Amino acid sequence: MKRVYFDHSATTQVNREVAELMLEYMTEKYGNPSSVHSFGREARKAVEEARERIAALFNAKPNEIIFTSGGTEADNLALKGVALANRKKGNHIITTGIEHHAIMHTCEYLEKQGFTVTYLPVDENAMIRMEDLKNAITDKTILISIMFANNEVGTIQPIKEIGQLAREKGIYFHTDAVQAVGSHPIDVEELNIDLLSLAGHKFHASKGIGALYVRRGVKLEEIQHGGAHERNMRAGTENVPGIVGLGKAAELAKRDLDKKIAYIKGLRDKLIAGVMEKIPHVKLNGHPESRLPGNANFSFLYIEGESLLLNLDMKGIAASSGSACTSGSLDPSHVLLAMGLTHEVAHGSLRVTLGQDNTEEEVDYFLEVIPEIVERLRSMSPLYGSAAEFKPSNPCSACHHHH
Ligand SMILES: *Cc1c(COP(=O)(O)O)cnc(C)c1O
Repeated sequence: MKRVYFDHSATTQVNREVAELMLEYMTEKYGNPSSVHSFGREARKAVEEARERIAALFNAKPNEIIFTSGGTEADNLALKGVALANRKKGNHIITTGIEHHAIMHTCEYLEKQGFTVTYLPVDENAMIRMEDLKNAITDKTILISIMFANNEVGTIQPIKEIGQLAREKGIYFHTDAVQAVGSHPIDVEELNIDLLSLAGHKFHASKGIGALYVRRGVKLEEIQHGGAHERNMRAGTENVPGIVGLGKAAELAKRDLDKKIAYIKGLRDKLIAGVMEKIPHVKLNGHPESRLPGNANFSFLYIEGESLLLNLDMKGIAASSGSACTSGSLDPSHVLLAMGLTHEVAHGSLRVTLGQDNTEEEVDYFLEVIPEIVERLRSMSPLYGSAAEFKPSNPCSACHHHH
């Protein structure tokens, strides 16, 4: 059966050039970068070249890059590292209610350690309001951490304005840019970003590698202790194959970025237009313009995203949903709820995320199969027959037949 991958926000295929380079650093150039012999020097050189390539992707300097095991670790290091190093200055952190769990759960942990966290609300498009951010700042605020682009609905935040405000107030600004790196141009100087997290597997490098950009002069405490790797900021023998792959992926991402963005956006817009035209009672979630090029997130009213997902999978199409109904949790995505969606509408959500290797034929195939799936599911839905009288209610009547 034909298989179509529309889940690029979950992970991406490793580029073949990246994989081949990684293989070389596993089987031939396998030295430890800390070793003084030629094998070690060869590995060290490759690590430092990768650092330059990563830095060049968003106008940072190589010595401002710390390699980590991925996006989650980069987020942990940014938040805990800044919090611990600056606690004498203040104990207040500002973030949003729509962050990835790597930020959310780290903030909850820091709250238990005596820090105070403000979770900014968002509007119906998942945008923060600058007014709320201004009002949240106190003389105890040491860090603002706001994601560049949301992983579920794709909304891109006003990063430049946030960076400017943080700079004026002398507060560090961290952004979880895991979804944006490789999908959006980024310049940390222009945007006044002090710390930035990225993850290799979201832009065609491998899983288990990522990085944290830390502007020179930012006070950060290490959270993993051991050897003196990564300028004492992240102990542990470097993941050399992962790092060289990350560097290669950064170089490839930079090449023709605008062209790739335009291509992916073209496919995505065709997909959105097709869904809206062919299927009634559908809502597009996320900001209409300020969103990631490959992201489409819909709510199909009267049905569950999970059922839709399983039916698409039977047709070979891989997507994702914002509903956790079948996994036994009553709560749909915190992001969709923060945007003000009712439980029913949130449960009907489907995330389709496109990448550079997708084709127009794949979009056509999706548009060919989805109307009949939606119609069939709706015909079985207890909510659909009475659509005219449908009233959203909480908690979650869409879930009752499961629980
Ligand atoms: C995927 C993702 C992460 C986590 O990165 P891992 O490398 O999978 O740990 C963090 N934040 C966002 C926005 C993500 O999309």
